[in-house]
Amino acid sequence: MSSTPWRTHMCGDARPEHVGETMVLAGWAARRRDHGGLVFVDLRDRSGVTQLVINPELAPEAAARAHQVRNEFVLRAEGTLVARSPETVNPNMPTGDVELQVGTLDVVSRSTPLPFQLDEENVDETLRLRYRWLDLRRNKLQRNIGLRAQMVGIIRREMEAAGFLDIQTPILFKPTPEGARDFVVPSRLQPGRFYALPQSPQILKQLTIVAGFDRYYQIAICFRDEDLRADRVQEITQLDVEMAFPDQELLFDVMERMYARIWRECLGVEIETPFPRMTFAESDRRFGTDKPDTRFGLELEDATDLTRGSQFGVFAGAEAVRFLRVPQELSRGDLARLEELAQQWGAKGLAYLVYDEEGEVRSPIAKFLSEAELARFRGEPASTVLFAADTWEATSRVLGALRSHLGRELGLIDDNAFTFLWIYDFPMFERDEEAGRWTAVHHPFTRPTDEWRERFHEEPAHALAHAYDLVVNGNELGGGSFRIHEPELQARVFELLGLGEEEQRAKFGFLLDALAMGAPPHGGIALGIDRMVMVLAGEPNLRDVIAFPKNQAGVDPMSGAPSEVTQEQLDELGLRLVGAARSAPPSPREPAARITRPDEPTPPEPGEPPKAQPVGEPEAPVGPTTQESS
Ligand code: ASP
Repeated sequence: MSSTPWRTHMCGDARPEHVGETMVLAGWAARRRDHGGLVFVDLRDRSGVTQLVINPELAPEAAARAHQVRNEFVLRAEGTLVARSPETVNPNMPTGDVELQVGTLDVVSRSTPLPFQLDEENVDETLRLRYRWLDLRRNKLQRNIGLRAQMVGIIRREMEAAGFLDIQTPILFKPTPEGARDFVVPSRLQPGRFYALPQSPQILKQLTIVAGFDRYYQIAICFRDEDLRADRVQEITQLDVEMAFPDQELLFDVMERMYARIWRECLGVEIETPFPRMTFAESDRRFGTDKPDTRFGLELEDATDLTRGSQFGVFAGAEAVRFLRVPQELSRGDLARLEELAQQWGAKGLAYLVYDEEGEVRSPIAKFLSEAELARFRGEPASTVLFAADTWEATSRVLGALRSHLGRELGLIDDNAFTFLWIYDFPMFERDEEAGRWTAVHHPFTRPTDEWRERFHEEPAHALAHAYDLVVNGNELGGGSFRIHEPELQARVFELLGLGEEEQRAKFGFLLDALAMGAPPHGGIALGIDRMVMVLAGEPNLRDVIAFPKNQAGVDPMSGAPSEVTQEQLDELGLRLVGAARSAPPSPREPAARITRPDEPTPPEPGEPPKAQPVGEPEAPVGPTTQESS
């Protein structure tokens, strides 16, 4: 580190070879121990901690100041680095062999009493977010955010080395179809009109390729107004990539090289490349999911053919009968708990066969099963067979989730392993039964595989897309696809998704125009940065890999965002708040403000009977829905 008047070294630098040197350190008081005479202060900065020792006989003025020091005061200490006496050496600290014998101590800045101590466990998350600057000083968060920066640095270097250009795309844009709700921003200059924050730069990145930039990348923020769950945020950061004249091998290779380097440089772990690949159909069949955790086996088996004519009515009547062989004789209590979970995932019940140590079967359903069935299911002594009998989709969902649960519960997972995997050949469409139409599984710009190019409309349920996802340890890191570059093909896909010509023009006219002016074949991928850091850091809390996250209600307890705006701002925008939003300060759990124009009828006061006429804008027409893919 280059020396400044504030400090000559970082707090984590002090080592025995510096003993005898004059050192100036600056940082935060992490801990102070006042022994009446000697005062010890652990001084911390980003690099680590060095113990300061202040001896009133050697430095009376410094000692007087040291008595006033409290946790998180900012100090500057000048002194001589000395070796600790053998009995005070701390082998748990990198700087534990030495301490700074302080001559001069300056209290640079003070701190009010702290809302929580940095080493306190289980601090309420809202309190942590309210005082995020303090929370971020903790070791874990310093590590996570540092790891994130290191990772992004590697990503940029790798992408640039592979010839990708960093191109920024606008934040104020038009709705982009990634399947979530849009965040909208009212326009003052175009009253009554709204921008939408991009759910991804999908169309824009395609246009950079049409524009001849050949290889695009961006660390992009994507805005999705979703109900927040533990693994969801509204501002997703992703590595967004697109290339002209795409080659899947090349794209996968660039990504694999990037991951290998991230893992090597950030964790010192060598990951094996190329990553294995599996079709969606195989993954669904073997693991019941499109993001399998392949760190352990426990694969699903299919007995549908065998059980067609079963005496056991539940099996005979089901579209699919699939099962898991669990290498443990589960108790009644275990089974009851698993059944409860299975029901939460949509199962009606959980049939089972338990084999005891002697290999004897114990099960209420055994008496209904034929010799052939029993022979097929027969497990090792001390094992359990768990069944799902339902639609194929439901058996995947239930057994896939049971498998993940059991993998963790039974300790089948090697926590130090990283199993990366490409999943490809995804279905192109899925049926939205409620809306009675097809939706794109990835997004509507994804191209069908060559095999389905001309006939996807004949069997939309079976058509495959040239789309792929990257999965690690059961987490989807992201995905991408090859795109449609032919305007006619794009129009045909829109049509299947229920978009009439007029709607196509209104929503995507500019894309169709661009595709009609010399669009090269192109394709790309988007990979979630937040998720990557979580896996890299082994951090289960998504918010702990983001410097300033919002809480699960979409609120930033630190700044109070989202906050009210002044009447003047509303007037300028030509907006008026109605209903609950008008009277009460917005609380995170209250319904969002509805936005109406000032010329619309006034809504009733609270307590007043509602008037007959409708209030507010009609619902916006619903565009093609896609499944969120990152
Ligand atoms: N735009 C897609 C997403 O955000 C990714 C892609 O197709 O490149 O999930």
